[in-house]
Amino acid sequence: MTSTLEPTQTPARPGTAADLLRREDALGAHNYKPLNVVIQRAQGSWVWDTDGRRYLDCLSAYSAVNQGHCHPRIIGALTEQAQQVTLTSRAFRNDRLAAFYETVTRLLNFEAVIPMNTGAEAVETAIKLARKWAYEVKGVAPHQAEIIVMDGNFHGRTTTLVSFSSEGQYKDAFGPLTPGFVRVPYGDAAAIEAAITPNTAAVLYEPIQGEAGVIVPPEGFLTALRGVCDRHGALMIADEIQTGLGRTGQWLAGDHEPARPDVVILGKALGGGVYPVSAVLASRAVMDLFQPGDHGSTFGGNPLAAAVAQASLEVLEDENLPARAAELGEYLRDRLRAINSPRVKEVRGRGLLIGVELHEPARLYCEALRDLGVLCKETHETTMRLAPPLVTSREDLDWALERIEQVLTA
Ligand SMILES: *Cc1c(COP(=O)(O)O)cnc(C)c1O
Repeated sequence: MTSTLEPTQTPARPGTAADLLRREDALGAHNYKPLNVVIQRAQGSWVWDTDGRRYLDCLSAYSAVNQGHCHPRIIGALTEQAQQVTLTSRAFRNDRLAAFYETVTRLLNFEAVIPMNTGAEAVETAIKLARKWAYEVKGVAPHQAEIIVMDGNFHGRTTTLVSFSSEGQYKDAFGPLTPGFVRVPYGDAAAIEAAITPNTAAVLYEPIQGEAGVIVPPEGFLTALRGVCDRHGALMIADEIQTGLGRTGQWLAGDHEPARPDVVILGKALGGGVYPVSAVLASRAVMDLFQPGDHGSTFGGNPLAAAVAQASLEVLEDENLPARAAELGEYLRDRLRAINSPRVKEVRGRGLLIGVELHEPARLYCEALRDLGVLCKETHETTMRLAPPLVTSREDLDWALERIEQVLTA
């Protein structure tokens, strides 16, 4: 199939893909380098472009669409709530928050929750909570709290979060950077223990590093990290924004080991792919460090978000999507490993969060797959991330696998 979707100098007919992307690029910031496919509608695991071509979505908006696109139950909750009340601010209460709190704390087994909107905001929230814990519980001197973070981390794009990125492009032009973070190699509990000081408030980590290229830490890392945090009195904070809510075959990617973190950060699929909802979960005692006025968000915990998040969680539970991700993920990984291609260096991941690392840049392969009707995206240059919605059928995975094999062995 020849691609009609590359930018062109010649004027395109209004409303065509070429016209839309030219107009978008003329006025918008160029802070992304998207694959040129202009999506017009979506259902389940499939999306359709402006020319009516269909594609299997193997990215799921970086795991924000675990439940599949436009899930009828989530859209139902959205539209029903949209006609009742959408925003009260937290100056008043709303009748949807209690049920959302009950559902999210029951399913993730935590005592307390604070709702936010984007993932980055929820990470910022967890950092504020950890710092307050350091000063009020651990007795760290004012402004001295340190948080240990990992090489290759991705926690979002705010000025504080990029301050401790190991990616030069994310931070070098955006200083002055926020102090108070110490970075160590990922997956190395001994390095974390060596970096701990009396001022350490917390260790912030991703149980699998998605943006870094689907990096799975060594077996036992989380258990060892739990031990380190217990020995030295530091909060263990899991960023499960991309890995949580079923993606890796468990409710949380950290559930693959018995160790439990003190604080868990959720986002992405919490909004079912229809609305931004994030949250931080903690014990009652830790959450109670936040007093009225310490933190907040105009849209955080709004009734529309609460209704959408509750439905999004109920879909994951009622459709047994974590177990489905485990089963389909194993199948997909096995089939990918069986592809005989000298271009493939490694296939890794858990559940339906899979990285196919190539010996060469992955972009061309993602573009070739797009032309064959499979949407995925390179991460860190040489890795193709495959993360289809958890509702994807085995037949649809087989359909994608045929095309992936075709592209990798061409
Ligand atoms: C996407 C992501 C974030 C940031 O979430 P936004 O909603 O884009 O702010 C933070 N941490 C991880 C692990 C993520 O994958």
